[in-house]
Amino acid sequence: MNPLSQLPSVDRLLSTATLASLLDAHGRAVVTGIVRDVLAETRAAVIAGAPLPDEAALIAALINEVGSGVTAKMQPKLRPVFNLTGTVLHTNLGRATLPEEAVQALIVAARSPCALEYDIESGGRGDRDNVVNDLLCELTGAEAATVVNNNAAAVFLLLNTLAQKKQVIVSRGELIEIGGAFRVPDIMSRAGAKLVEVGTTNRTHLKDFAEAIATGGARTAMLMKVHASNYAISGFTHAAPEAELAQLAHEHGLPFVIDLGSGTLADLAAYGLPHEPTPTEAIAAGADLVCFSGDKLLGGPQAGLLVGRKDLIAKIKKNPLKRALRVGKLTLAALEAVLALYRDPDRLHLRVTAVRQLTRPEAEIAAQAARLLPALQSALGGLPVTTEIVALKSQIGSGSLPVDRLPSAGFAIRPQGKRSGVLNRIEQGLRALPKPAIGRIEDGALLLDLRCLAEQEEPEFAAQLSALSGLGT
Ligand SMILES: *Cc1c(COP(=O)(O)O)cnc(C)c1O
Repeated sequence: MNPLSQLPSVDRLLSTATLASLLDAHGRAVVTGIVRDVLAETRAAVIAGAPLPDEAALIAALINEVGSGVTAKMQPKLRPVFNLTGTVLHTNLGRATLPEEAVQALIVAARSPCALEYDIESGGRGDRDNVVNDLLCELTGAEAATVVNNNAAAVFLLLNTLAQKKQVIVSRGELIEIGGAFRVPDIMSRAGAKLVEVGTTNRTHLKDFAEAIATGGARTAMLMKVHASNYAISGFTHAAPEAELAQLAHEHGLPFVIDLGSGTLADLAAYGLPHEPTPTEAIAAGADLVCFSGDKLLGGPQAGLLVGRKDLIAKIKKNPLKRALRVGKLTLAALEAVLALYRDPDRLHLRVTAVRQLTRPEAEIAAQAARLLPALQSALGGLPVTTEIVALKSQIGSGSLPVDRLPSAGFAIRPQGKRSGVLNRIEQGLRALPKPAIGRIEDGALLLDLRCLAEQEEPEFAAQLSALSGLGT
């Protein structure tokens, strides 16, 4: 007798109680497809000589496989994780975690139509930038504002609008590359602007800019400053002060533009963090346009924020590329909610999640580590490792304040003896948890920095650790 004929049919499998409930949950198309795949694999295995178990065992095995196939297939690709890397604004992990106010605003905007480009008072057409225009002006002292997809888009759009076929004067020390293929010279040429580098890598003076303006004449479109966010030049350095650059630009009827990169609206120095330049300071120093990211130190959704002179913002908004780079209602909803929190600067460290994470005291993080240590030690009990609480240094990430490190705390897991393979197994095990925990291996230790683990997440984090105990076997 042909052993293949003993395989159950698709219909027979689908009629079992387990698969019927999967059908109910995920729909006929998905489950039937996976049943067919599993049956095809079994058939191929049988043809290759695999023995066929009795029908009950076979059906149980097939149901099992279909179940895990469905689970794998229906698992969202964009999975939440625990960020224990020690990098707060981790680009690969989605940068800033949104405050609850922003999450709620997102849900409300997603769930129903909203007045995105509609003026409820007049019943006429509105402008989506108006959702955040007044707030941004209030918080930065600018005359007008607009929002695009990210800060790279903001830089591109402002250059394309104001400097196409013209020259932009930038200090050589600011021609930076930011991760993910954003290079100032490349963006500039793609935007159609010609870069004029002045000064040297470490020192650029006002007179360097003045000479370039004199040489460029009418071809000069603007002076630009790029905040060299992801690296630091130290030692014998000089940069022309912003106020002087602004004055020089204005004497020649040129705009002075600053790409701030991160651009926090909070006074980080008040929290003992190093000072990071703010859009407000840039505007006050005379900048005509300032752009910065929504999801770096600001702690909001991915967006590029442009603030500055009304006439320049109006020009930028008329550029057809603005339409291609615009943001959607979800972004604006979250951004408005985050910006609103900045109206109360005294409580940012309690309400803006990114600021909260960045300003968390070391002692609080160490106390959290002490609470979680028993769960981790018992989960790793069977493995040849030591687990202890250690002082760590977190970093801000996303190129913000690159040199500065934040005193933090967490776990160091070290192999006993020379069995370094065990660290990789634990690191993989942590990534295989229902909500993956992402740490880092450094100097022969697996480090888990707890700065970004919120207190209310502790039970969920601790509960799933027991799954690690299987690693020992
Ligand atoms: C991060 C950064 C950008 C790019 O911003 P995105 O929001 O990531 O597109 C541009 N310029 C500077 C100086 C930056 O630091």
